[in-house]
Amino acid sequence: MKEKAWFEENENRIPVGEVRTRFAPSPTGYMHVGNLRTALYTYLIARHDGGKFILRIEDTDRGRLIEGATDVIYRTMAECHLEHDEGPDVGGPVAPYIQSERMSMYKEYAELLVENGNAYRCFCEKAESEEDSGEFDRGDDPCRTLTKEESDVRAAAGEPYVIRQLIPHEGTTTFHDEIFGDITVENKTLDDQVLIKRDGMPTYNFANVVDDHLMGITHVVRGSEYLSSAPKYNLLYQGFGWDIPKYVHCSPVMRDAHNKMSKRHGDPSYEDLIAQGYLTNAVINYVALLGWSPGGEREIYSLDELKEIFDIKGISKSPAIFDIEKLRYFNAEYIRALSPEEFAKAAEPFIRQAVKNPAIDPAAIAVLLQQRTEVLTDIPEKLDFFDSLPEYSAELFVHQKSKSTPETAKSVLEQILPMFGELSEWNDERILDAMNRLTEAMGVKKSVVMWPIRIAAAGKAVTPGGAVEICRILGKEETMRRLEIGLEKLS
Ligand code: GLU
Repeated sequence: MKEKAWFEENENRIPVGEVRTRFAPSPTGYMHVGNLRTALYTYLIARHDGGKFILRIEDTDRGRLIEGATDVIYRTMAECHLEHDEGPDVGGPVAPYIQSERMSMYKEYAELLVENGNAYRCFCEKAESEEDSGEFDRGDDPCRTLTKEESDVRAAAGEPYVIRQLIPHEGTTTFHDEIFGDITVENKTLDDQVLIKRDGMPTYNFANVVDDHLMGITHVVRGSEYLSSAPKYNLLYQGFGWDIPKYVHCSPVMRDAHNKMSKRHGDPSYEDLIAQGYLTNAVINYVALLGWSPGGEREIYSLDELKEIFDIKGISKSPAIFDIEKLRYFNAEYIRALSPEEFAKAAEPFIRQAVKNPAIDPAAIAVLLQQRTEVLTDIPEKLDFFDSLPEYSAELFVHQKSKSTPETAKSVLEQILPMFGELSEWNDERILDAMNRLTEAMGVKKSVVMWPIRIAAAGKAVTPGGAVEICRILGKEETMRRLEIGLEKLS
């Protein structure tokens, strides 16, 4: 066992006097919505108090390691602007921040608990799976009552053992959660969980307590699936004589009333949502409100505003249901609030999925789309007519509200073609001017002229943008070619 000085040195490194929170993902290869929400709340609690936000990678489950999985975590955190102050990549006062690099220290701490009677070595033959789960029949473990001397002798003789937490059979343990309040459990319902496995490696349940303490974590924010472990964690903190952090257990994000969101059931991860055309800021705003309420009606908050107002008291005990329609609504709000340049940049890849013609400027199309786009992936299907004129029926020229009939449509196309032909410049002003002149000459409603031109130019009834913009973007030559085709259909 290490000298006292080694433990003291670790204690001395722990930063004090500030709020310190940590996001502690296991690298699974994707960031599901519940994880992102935990990261966000953890970040907001730290930022709201001017504290530190720490990233710790919990990769102790070596069997489940996935190539590139930590990259997904870094990328998502960076894209979402959840910058961490300490972490594997940026370092910090209590490094290392990757559990697999901290392995050697856990056993030392477990031995400390054996020394002070809060844990014991168990030499019984156990299956690997029993060690992993820590689920032994607690009552009849003979090693629980071994004397310290006997235990030391057998360990020194090289007999393999696991280290189990010694939980009193009597009494109760109470822990306090910021959201759920005080929870008391009978100690006899708690099992002597394994802290250190036969190979000297810690279980997750032990490693997280040691890490949270040695990293000076003041608020442990995690999913409510950890609620049932909290009493055992408290007994560990007490066994060490360490301060117990504030617990903030968050209820799950559900896909419906009965099921948690899950990758296996096809529920989207953060990256899926982005690929599906949602904006990061909209996702963050929506996720913030999944189980937390600022009070009041207002829903749209920037990350900076969230930092300002976030309060643990607003976190709900009830599970939150992920509602993609609601996210769509948030997304539409965020799209409308972008500057035209920002929107053009975000929309360009989606515009280019449909519009390959290099002569067409995606930014010109973006202008038509911004006010009517809810999700970026809606864009391509709206633009299919730019590259090639779709097959369409002459019936489209008939539109009662616009007072367009086959006869008026034919007459409009016949007359506008030479007028367009004469235009020396092709811009909105000139195109509109030609249309206005024709409207006046025919003595009809404006829509009588606009309707058939737009239909002939686009070949479909619903288009982003009106006749003028579509003609301008198509260019003079292509517009006239399409208008001729329309005229043929009407003849
Ligand atoms: N690595 C754990 C997980 O991803 C973290 C739990 C915790 O925050 O303590 O579920």
